[in-house]
Amino acid sequence: MPIHILSDEVASQIAAGEVVERPASVVKELAENALDAGASQITIHIVEAGRRLIEIADNGTGISPGEMELAVARHATSKLNSAEDLFHIQTLGFRGEALASIASVSHFTLVSRAQDGEVGARLVVEGGRPLPVERVGVPVGTVVRVENLFYNVPARLKFLKRDLTERQQIDALVTRYALAYPQTRFHLFQDDRAVLQTSGRGDRREVMAGLYGPEIARQMLEVNFADEGINVSGFISPVALTRSNRKEITLFINGRWVQDSALSAALLQAYHTLLMVGRYPIAALFIQLPAEDVDVNVHPAKAEVRFRNPDKIFSAVQRAARRAARH
Ligand code: ADP
Ligand code: MG
Repeated sequence: MPIHILSDEVASQIAAGEVVERPASVVKELAENALDAGASQITIHIVEAGRRLIEIADNGTGISPGEMELAVARHATSKLNSAEDLFHIQTLGFRGEALASIASVSHFTLVSRAQDGEVGARLVVEGGRPLPVERVGVPVGTVVRVENLFYNVPARLKFLKRDLTERQQIDALVTRYALAYPQTRFHLFQDDRAVLQTSGRGDRREVMAGLYGPEIARQMLEVNFADEGINVSGFISPVALTRSNRKEITLFINGRWVQDSALSAALLQAYHTLLMVGRYPIAALFIQLPAEDVDVNVHPAKAEVRFRNPDKIFSAVQRAARRAARH
């Protein structure tokens, strides 16, 4: 084959693969957008494990009719201007890729009304091609509907796991965001069944009781630690309350859910020899540190970060957990 430049459509579908791997990744990107828009209420409807429909409605700041098309364009963002901004970023998004990516692999509808807007707008994107924007009367906020995900990339559809697994991934994701953002009311429905509802009252232990049951929530130890600009809060389980895998160790850095095995290891070390072999704690730790000490741009789905001073953060997590365990 001679060298040729890929069509925009194919390039978008390939790029989408980095951000949108499965229904849960769509939920993550859309929920993060809602949080970035300052939503105090996020309602999520999933049908057939997200294959048929993923719909996320928020009451955030919304998008004005004139900006609807830009919102779904690749590399279009309201959150960043220069690469330098990455090191003091306060929002979860910054790549301007999620909506474009999702819209290129689904039947996509964006409905929104801006806070100061008199009228809302609807934009439908089919196979990456935006149709004309229509004006509609809707409340302030944004609704994104993603139907028939991967309808035009059948190879990717084949990589999806069975519905139960995909549903569990979504439940686990929304559960974690609900814990991380207790001031936001989350409602999650799978096939019209309410799976999760939080009050938005800001009480993490209350959220935890809803997720794990009141007994576990009661036993969890509160973490509350601050030193040298690093703040660690959240909950860890006592030695007597463990799981057979690490899946219940949840780490957020500056409001971002990350998978970081070194940080998990730091937490495990805090338990020292007290955990039996093959047993792991339940933990939800929310770590805040100066934005310039974290590089958030090392992973397309932003699930990994890099620290300027990793040792300092590991040590803070360990001391935070040890202190919680002593009380
Ligand atoms: P990013 O979040 O990286 O900026 P996205 O593709 O996810 O990129 O979104 C593009 C832009 O669309 C955002 O920068 C934001 O201005 C707007 N947007 C997306 N979702 C929402 C939402 N739920 N509420 C308000 N604005 C939104
Ligand atoms: Mg985004």
